Amino acid sequence: MKRSEMEANLFCIHCNDETPHMIIYINNEITKIECEDCRHIVELKVDIMKEFYKEIYERVSTKPSRITQEYKKDLNMFLSRLPIRVVSKPYRLIRELKESRKVIRQYRKR
Ligand SMILES: [Zn+2]
Repeated sequence: MKRSEMEANLFCIHCNDETPHMIIYINNEITKIECEDCRHIVELKVDIMKEFYKEIYERVSTKPSRITQEYKKDLNMFLSRLPIRVVSKPYRLIRELKESRKVIRQYRKR
C-alpha cells in the first residue's frame, strides 16, 4: 500500500478561486484533495480493501516473472537437459529409417 502526495492548482468552490491543493493518493487512486488556503477537504471514497486485494493480486501475478528469473539462473541445467530431448527425435527418425530399410530389404528378397 503506497500513499503519495501531489500538489496541484485546482479550483476551490470555497475560495472561489484557483488555489494550491494537496492531492493524496493511495496506490494510484485519489483519496483526498485539500485546499491549502481554506483547508477545505474533499474526500473521495476509495475502496481500501479493493486496493489491498489489487496489490496482492499484482504481487501474485508478478510471481511467474520471478519464477522465470529463477529459471534463467537454472539455464545451464535447462540446457543440459535440452539436447537429450532434441536428440530423441532424430533417434526415432533413424530407427524408423532403419525399419523401413529392413522392410525394403525384405521386399527385395522376394
Ligand atoms: Zn479553498
